[in-house]
Amino acid sequence: MLSLKNLRVNHGPLTALWDVSLDVRRGEKVGLLGANGAGKSTTMGAIVGLYPRASGTITYDGQVLERPSTAQTVAGGIALVPEGRRLFAAMSVLENLEMGVYAAANRKDRAASLARVYQLFPILREKATQNAGELSGGQQQMVAIGRALMSRPRLLLLDEPFIGVAPKLIDEILSALHSIAAEGVTMILVEQNTHRALDFVERAYVIENGHTVLEGSREQLLADPTFAAKFLGL
Ligand code: ATP
Repeated sequence: MLSLKNLRVNHGPLTALWDVSLDVRRGEKVGLLGANGAGKSTTMGAIVGLYPRASGTITYDGQVLERPSTAQTVAGGIALVPEGRRLFAAMSVLENLEMGVYAAANRKDRAASLARVYQLFPILREKATQNAGELSGGQQQMVAIGRALMSRPRLLLLDEPFIGVAPKLIDEILSALHSIAAEGVTMILVEQNTHRALDFVERAYVIENGHTVLEGSREQLLADPTFAAKFLGL
């Protein structure tokens, strides 16, 4: 479904990604692991066209993506839940969710999408008219995920969705993500907590200093002594 080949991305004079390659098949849940500053967020941003490629290719659904606009990304069925959530704090929960409906084609599905978001996260219906900034960290993350779901993505990119979220709400969000995955939505999860990531994903890539250095199934990674020493504290 998605393939990155030898992707290089610069932030001004700084090269954030030197050589990132990964393949994600339809319906998979794939993790992106690595230390702070390794290039995980930049990889996600490059997929949705936030950052231009210096070289390498991004292929999605058999088509090479140049630098798509947000509207094209959404129309193609890709949605990003960005690091730090990026909500409009002074706007209501409902207004934030509606920000996720871009393309005209999605507008007619708006009511159905909203109903699905409220089914996954019932608290958001209760808080619909409250300002997003007044919600707890976990509830804000539900809004950020809900906003992404409003565009009915086929590929959902989640960048550190559990930061600042209380444990009980982490479980609620994980259970919602499992339901979304069960509907066939493909997911890439960036997560600092390796144990939590490997509980959720089937396969993961490790990024170090802008390079993909390791790939494996959950079982392969857990059995890899170098990986365990670096990421599992063993
Ligand atoms: P983190 O978990 O800290 O977000 P990360 O693995 O997601 O880490 P990136 O955010 O992709 O890493 O950062 C990769 C490198 O690019 C870092 O050196 C970072 O400082 C730099 N960087 C990231 N975004 C920008 C930006 N918008 N402008 C300039 N430099 C950036």
